[in-house]
Amino acid sequence: MDLTRLPASELAELLTSKEVSSVEATRASLDRIGEADGDLHAFLHVAGDAALRRASEIDQLRADGQELGPLAGVPIAIKDVLCTVDMPSTAGSRILEGWVPPYDATVVARLRTAGMVPLGKTNMDEFAMGSSTEHSAYGPTRNPWDLERIPGGSGGGSAAAVAAFEAPVALGSDTGGSIRQPAAVTGTVGMKPTYGGVSRYGAIALASSLDQVGPVSRTVLDSALVHDVIGGHDPHDSTSLDEAWPSFADAARAGAQGRDLSGTRIGVIRELNGAGFQAGVQTRFEEAIALLETAGAEIVEVSAPHFEYAIAAYYLILPAEASSNLAKYDSVRFGLRVVPDGGATVEQVMSATRGAGFGPEVKRRIILGTYALSAGYYDAYYGSAQKVRTLIQRDFAAAFEQADVLVTPSAPTTAFKLGDKLDDPLAMYLNDITTIPANLAGVPGLGLPVGLAPEDGLPVGIQLMAPAREDARLYRVGAGLEALLHESWGAPLLDRLPADFGRHRGAAPHLAPVPGPGTEPDGGTA
Ligand code: GLN
Repeated sequence: MDLTRLPASELAELLTSKEVSSVEATRASLDRIGEADGDLHAFLHVAGDAALRRASEIDQLRADGQELGPLAGVPIAIKDVLCTVDMPSTAGSRILEGWVPPYDATVVARLRTAGMVPLGKTNMDEFAMGSSTEHSAYGPTRNPWDLERIPGGSGGGSAAAVAAFEAPVALGSDTGGSIRQPAAVTGTVGMKPTYGGVSRYGAIALASSLDQVGPVSRTVLDSALVHDVIGGHDPHDSTSLDEAWPSFADAARAGAQGRDLSGTRIGVIRELNGAGFQAGVQTRFEEAIALLETAGAEIVEVSAPHFEYAIAAYYLILPAEASSNLAKYDSVRFGLRVVPDGGATVEQVMSATRGAGFGPEVKRRIILGTYALSAGYYDAYYGSAQKVRTLIQRDFAAAFEQADVLVTPSAPTTAFKLGDKLDDPLAMYLNDITTIPANLAGVPGLGLPVGLAPEDGLPVGIQLMAPAREDARLYRVGAGLEALLHESWGAPLLDRLPADFGRHRGAAPHLAPVPGPGTEPDGGTA
């Protein structure tokens, strides 16, 4: 049995019944990373020894008869935007190269407490800015379906790692689509929870009014299981919702068993349907809607007239908040420090450090955001964008009066070729046309695969959205749809990835640390 091909839920059952040990499962994942990651570059850091040590501790606890959580012993990959005390946390940037945080993000602490085994940190666009992972300062990640194509972004590392069976599940973060769009183009499942549903304490901030941490997996149930572990109130995060959440895993199981959607109204958003979407994306999306209808769902058309302004509003709000969040990389407190030859003032050191440490996309957004926030322009730009945001929230409120769940394709196209959009920021930004509205409104969004596009054989995803706090509804409906799809395909989509992918190629040379641009990272903390 190849343990890496099992969903986390099935692996967890074998661990609980002691048919498999966590050391075996962890070793299988590490071996798979060794085989495949030379091609993929999904990981920036692999913590092999620490993972095996933790796995053996969990095995010991189980042998001692300790009561363990449902995912105890299951390996997990962690997006490098999340702080980890025992691994570097770079957010894909040179400015944090080698930085090891003094604390764990709350989500990381929670998965450790649950007995999950961190395998390492996954690649991402620098500070989560991008839709292709090509903006990583450490080089791009490749898509396991086609190594010449992007795995989506910013969380392309987590999505590729899960799709290529390097890890059963992973964590991501989603500010405008960085969990859902990579899931779409790699054939995986990804959930952006309700804003405030999962703690961001220790998640390196991009745009604080939009960021959410969430799971990446191969099945809806697996995302629900991870969400149950990481979610819930955190006093360390002032935006964290203080309320009791239902079991998302129970919701997913009920959805998969029942497959009965009678009484569920599915809203198709007129403005995010048809024109502008790749033909094969639209075809698979419509087939999925037809399948929902056969399960008893009522399909209604809804209108969200302000969604067409979502990208414009997002690219004022995000850079404004990002420029403020990124001001802390000042060369003084932590991370990179570049001292110009012959000594310099604090300002010169700061400028040299930020000049060397940030990549072009990050600089572009800092400049944009600083401008949008400047005195005299604030109302015209940031203020107007916030008003558009309110209109989008009202569109959602109106749509949710007519529908319980809204659906869109998760991304307008399948995975594009590496390099295709790198020099065209606006083309890159358009990838998130369907995912950004959920961040602006704070509502949850679940992406899952609905097949391969006929014209290129690449994965297509559907996005389900529900009102804020109704994450469980998405797991129920999503797991129902997934069960129907698996039934019609005869097997999960990812089973069509060649089983020997990566096996004939070499080990992963990039896992050795990449030297910085003539810098002296102090690795220290505040
Ligand atoms: N691709 C979007 C951006 O570049 C979304 C990023 C994200 O969700 N972190 O901003």
